[in-house]
Amino acid sequence: MAGRGPVWAPRGATLNARGWPQEAALRMLMNNLDPEVAEHPERLVVYGGSGRAARDWPSFDAIVRELTALRADETLLVQSGRPVGVMTTHEWAPRVLIANSNLVGDWATWPEFRRLEQLGLTMYGQMTAGSWIYIGTQGILQGTYETFAAVAAKRFGGSLAGTITLTAGLGGMGGAQPLAVTMNGGVAVCVDCDPRGVERRIGHGYLDVRADGLDEALRLAYEARDARRPLSIGVVANAAEAVPALLARGAEIDVVTDQTSAHDPLAYLPLGVAFEDMAALARKDPEGFTRRARESMARHVEAMVGFQDAGAEVFDYGNSIRGEASLAGYARAFDFPGFVPAYIRPLFCEGKGPFRWAALSGDPADIAATDRAVLDLFPDNEPLARWIRMAGERVRYQGLPARICWLGYGERDRAGERFNDLVAYGEVSAPLVIGRDHLDCGSVASPYRETEGMLDGSDAIADWPLLNAMVNVASGASWVSIHHGGGVGIGRSIHAGQVTVADGTPLAGEKIRRVLTNDPGMGVIRHVDAGYDRAAEVARERGVRVPMAGT
Ligand code: NAD
Repeated sequence: MAGRGPVWAPRGATLNARGWPQEAALRMLMNNLDPEVAEHPERLVVYGGSGRAARDWPSFDAIVRELTALRADETLLVQSGRPVGVMTTHEWAPRVLIANSNLVGDWATWPEFRRLEQLGLTMYGQMTAGSWIYIGTQGILQGTYETFAAVAAKRFGGSLAGTITLTAGLGGMGGAQPLAVTMNGGVAVCVDCDPRGVERRIGHGYLDVRADGLDEALRLAYEARDARRPLSIGVVANAAEAVPALLARGAEIDVVTDQTSAHDPLAYLPLGVAFEDMAALARKDPEGFTRRARESMARHVEAMVGFQDAGAEVFDYGNSIRGEASLAGYARAFDFPGFVPAYIRPLFCEGKGPFRWAALSGDPADIAATDRAVLDLFPDNEPLARWIRMAGERVRYQGLPARICWLGYGERDRAGERFNDLVAYGEVSAPLVIGRDHLDCGSVASPYRETEGMLDGSDAIADWPLLNAMVNVASGASWVSIHHGGGVGIGRSIHAGQVTVADGTPLAGEKIRRVLTNDPGMGVIRHVDAGYDRAAEVARERGVRVPMAGT
């Protein structure tokens, strides 16, 4: 089961560990490294540049061993991907506590992080890589779908039909962009310097066609746009070259964003470097590479600003490319907004965020059963129903079958309890795990992304994700994690995650009710505290207690 070759999570209803919470952690760790799920499983890299599931293979083996033996009153401690202790706790305590990539403020820089990583002392956990609840590209698909739907609502009358979106990056997260655009009716031109990225997304049905160069890409894009036909087109090129080139030739682009791995300058291909030479050059001369990558990002961002000046809807998609361009001295880097203040914050005020679950059985029929349960629970939510139906038709599972949808305060707990009932009554064939991205309403401090431009200026206050993690530990989550640097890179974010297992027992039901109430409740509280009226309304209407707001 454990090893250096391909890793697949066990399927079915037979336990390998001593209980379902331990088994779930074991399967989800392995699922993160499933070759269908992980970007580079042989290096334990799941997604997002170098986001890992475990520090090294001996650590992976030891985690598997410990989870298999762990009792229901024990807790495994994981420090940046390495199991460092097992403690006696109690049955309400999480079975695993995880801290990844955390550094003291003044030391929280990429060079210091890399120095420590090379010494074997830490690893980069991204968000759901090191906390074992990554579900492949679908995870980001829903968020990306929501974002492009919000762009459509804001600028194009509710649909992207007849518009062209230009973006780059077809990796683990960015690979969701083409399908999210076509699900909203639009045309997407997606640039990636790695031909494998393009082929992989075509293979997964997320990208429609590959064009040979920018000319062909534009020709295909204009044809589809004029016919108001959804189409996604991949082009192999360096975005720092392609985006300025498209601007220079006056390409008719309506929306521009980017999801290259700009948060890590060693993962962004600089101008003048061949893709094949990238990894070796980054290893040989990290400082020189970083400088060249940042300069290239400045050219890339300058072209994005150029498109904005020409009237396009332009936004940063959470990869810190504006920050990097500004470090290279480009003065207008922050002329366009991040996607959270532009489109997502109103959802956060309602405690909404990326709720997700996976079927430990490995049986897609179990997810179909949960889909029906969600449709049944929220019959009046048409956008949710549209998503669930489209996801059922168009999303191909990677690894264990899973589903995601955005649910808010007062909704997640209902869904979770229903899922636990499905397990209890045998309507699914094995337990379900319920978790979420760290990119959520009350679980992250990230001034370039989730907490950019908070109303009260509290963007960098990182007490909230720590409180969030502690609340989830106190509420009965199955595993809880605190990470640093996910999404936007070292020094720029602190965030927390939780995963809770629905094994059909009354105890799981109790835990689920508390966790899935309190976890999104942190989002409502955080936004009430920052002065958002909608959050205060939600707190009043749905009974979230916020002492200083009198609710
Ligand atoms: P990834 O490492 O899997 O993929 C990045 C892709 O960018 C790769 O395919 C790579 O070939 C490509 N790339 C690098 N430099 C390029 C260049 N100069 N030109 C063209 N292509 C280039 O990363 P990912 O998981 O897809 O994440 C992408 C970024 O989005 C990260 O910075 C991540 O932190 C961020 N992110 C955003 C959100 C969000 O909510 N919007 C969520 C998660 C991650």
